[in-house]
Amino acid sequence: MRVLGIETSCDETGVALYDTDAGLLADALYSQIALHAEFGGVVPELASRDHTRKLLPLVDQVLADAQLTKQDLDAIAYTAGPGLVGALMVGACTAHGMARALDIPVLGVHHMEGHLLAPMLEETAPAFPFVALLVSGGHTQLVDVRGLGDYRLLGESVDDAAGEAFDKVAKMLELPYPGGPQVAALAEQGRSERFRFPRPMTDRPGLDFSFSGLKTHTLTALRQLREQDALDSQARADVARAFEDAVVDTLIIKCRRALKESGRERLVVAGGVSANRRLRETLDVALTKLGARAFYPRGRFCTDNGAMIAYAGAQRLIAGQRSDAIQPRPRWPLAELAPPRH
Ligand code: ATP
Ligand code: MG
Ligand code: FE
Repeated sequence: MRVLGIETSCDETGVALYDTDAGLLADALYSQIALHAEFGGVVPELASRDHTRKLLPLVDQVLADAQLTKQDLDAIAYTAGPGLVGALMVGACTAHGMARALDIPVLGVHHMEGHLLAPMLEETAPAFPFVALLVSGGHTQLVDVRGLGDYRLLGESVDDAAGEAFDKVAKMLELPYPGGPQVAALAEQGRSERFRFPRPMTDRPGLDFSFSGLKTHTLTALRQLREQDALDSQARADVARAFEDAVVDTLIIKCRRALKESGRERLVVAGGVSANRRLRETLDVALTKLGARAFYPRGRFCTDNGAMIAYAGAQRLIAGQRSDAIQPRPRWPLAELAPPRH
């Protein structure tokens, strides 16, 4: 089955073609980063309009890359939520319109299920069951995954998502949006011995996270350095490093705990922050000691993309699942999903 995947939940327009026999055939991405950069964050109305402009040209591009036409498509999958309602609406309407015209099935996919399954597109794909750490701009969650659509939430952030904290700290450091990769690059020049920031909620049992206090801690550290007239480029890098170390350490402590408590031996790490190099390196070492192993998507499939939606959709479409109506769901808890009915 050849499935066209459409992602428009936030600020990237992603389109891909996935074949359940041959694998990923083509994928294309248009990022709106430059459009939103001057506002320091995503402007929802501008996002919807830009998806409208870019979506159909991207569909043509992936079909051309795969040397196929619309008539070769067997089904369409699109992100139905969670995300910005106007942005979701563009993908949903386009998908349903195309599916109606081509007389093929269409399915709305959960964006975080897309992130969660993204490592399945890699050569060494993780087998079920596993624990998943979803770390992105809007989510920080630990999920026990028993199979497709069989998800149990183990813990999540009670305030900011890890990616959001990265983005806010980037603003404090006057780095451009989106800040995660920028903070990570600055942290490369930083020294880990200079400051030690707190590892929130690691001193008590449980698998929830909190990143809001760490953000305030970073702001206070920067303010003190500024008052002492000591905020030179080395100090900025040292702060970025201390922040990154604290986030990475906190995530790893909770991942180890989740693996021990669940007895799983595989960990999937997905979502934008899973692109972070220090997180991957430190986690791989920590898991080896536990006799466990981590699986990640390739770099460009960590952040939003069409390939993960095409893949997740294909798993459900092939089992016969369909969407009858255009119903974007800006809020949609992952644990509400169920396995496809065969
Ligand atoms: P969600 O998936 O929760 O709806 P989103 O789609 O906006 O949110 P993603 O596109 O998955 O999130 O990821 C974007 C986030 O990942 C941003 O917050 C960005 O700063 C962060 N990020 C990307 N690369 C890195 C990196 N190398 N280190 C740290 N954070 C990163
Ligand atoms: Mg994004
Ligand atoms: Fe995302």
